[in-house]
Amino acid sequence: MSLHRLPLCWFNHHTPLRREVKWDGISYIGSCSCCGETIRRRSDGDWKKDWNPRVLLHKAA
Ligand SMILES: [Zn+2]
Repeated sequence: MSLHRLPLCWFNHHTPLRREVKWDGISYIGSCSCCGETIRRRSDGDWKKDWNPRVLLHKAA
């Protein structure tokens, strides 16, 4: 893990370590190759810092 954070990570746009990407039953999750954060793939293909999709579903209901 690097202490140097790339600008894209500041904007919550991350790049996954492909060998660590896995399916958790709702979406793909992995670790950012730049900052090491746990990240989750959105339906549009963008990777964001992990959130709980079940909470979001409850809020939307
Ligand atoms: Zn990152």
